[in-house]
Amino acid sequence: MKKHNFSAGPAILPASVFEEAAEAVRDYNGAGLSILEMSHRSPEVSAMLDEAHQTVKDLLGLSDDFEVLFLSGGASSQFFMAAMNLLDEDRSAGYIDTGTWSKKAIKEAKRFGGLNLLGSSAEENYTFIPKGFDVPADLQYVHITSNNTVAGTQYHALPDTAVPIVADMSSEIFSRPIDASRYGLIYAGAQKNMGPAGTTLVIVRKDMLGKVKREIPTMLDYQTHITKQSAFNTPPVYPIYVCLLTMRWLKEQGGVNAMAARNAAKAKTLYDEIDANSMFKGVVRTEDRSLMNVTFVLENKDLEGDFLTACAAANISGVKGHRSVGGFRASIYNAMPVASIDVLIEVMKDFTKKYG
Ligand SMILES: *Cc1c(COP(=O)(O)O)cnc(C)c1O
Repeated sequence: MKKHNFSAGPAILPASVFEEAAEAVRDYNGAGLSILEMSHRSPEVSAMLDEAHQTVKDLLGLSDDFEVLFLSGGASSQFFMAAMNLLDEDRSAGYIDTGTWSKKAIKEAKRFGGLNLLGSSAEENYTFIPKGFDVPADLQYVHITSNNTVAGTQYHALPDTAVPIVADMSSEIFSRPIDASRYGLIYAGAQKNMGPAGTTLVIVRKDMLGKVKREIPTMLDYQTHITKQSAFNTPPVYPIYVCLLTMRWLKEQGGVNAMAARNAAKAKTLYDEIDANSMFKGVVRTEDRSLMNVTFVLENKDLEGDFLTACAAANISGVKGHRSVGGFRASIYNAMPVASIDVLIEVMKDFTKKYG
């Protein structure tokens, strides 16, 4: 039986996407070939790649100032690739430390230029989003992790600056509309909210490029992949195809505006239960709560094992919290149905009846 999968990633995808993705492995659109054996230069796959790039633009309302790429190497490669392509040795970029992933981004960026740490929530175990800091106007960009998958925090307003923002949106891409004019670069590993592991979506504003003096290896230069529309070398065709299936599904659902309303309602039902239930409490500051990764703990930590057992009995998987936070984390990405959240809430209610 299909489980209610609350895993942070690789994560749930829409049921129809799993079906269509499986069919394409057997026979891609009646071509008599599996998508796994088709040339990335064939007309069918070229058309698929074009549609995938264009659909990103459609969903996010991106103008032709932006280029869309599907690359390999995970979001983790973007930690260094962003800095390598955008940050000059004698200039600085601003970074905000909101936990695991931004720390890794900071570590890599330091290799390429000056780093100005604008804010950090490290001293409170990343339970809030730093705000109210000044952003020097001469920074080349300001990097944020817009949704913090591990801690369960999310930016609900961008830093107040005219400097272009570089955002790691891995765990929230397509969950809400964006103000594209604020961004110089956006990247997102596919396996949280978009597709299987194996490709990373990169959106870059063209005028951000060509400003650094260093030599960039061909494969690590965004310009290479722009010129060849993500097919300089063999791209991860199948992961990109599954992302496209998810994006088509998103369009059918009404796009990112409809998704934002749904995600807000879904998250509210779960946070309402956490706040109302005397045995549980949320981990992060209310105003910075993530609508994607809901982190919570039991007041009585000795009962953690029992709660996980109760979840497993209800066919729920993936709710154990990250080791750095403890407790529980329910990841409720775009594809998570309301019905699965209701099952989790029922388990919490029953648990409190039994142990409360
Ligand atoms: C999962 C995650 C990453 C790492 O992604 P990889 O594709 O495994 O490199 C980076 N940033 C955020 C916000 C994530 O959630």
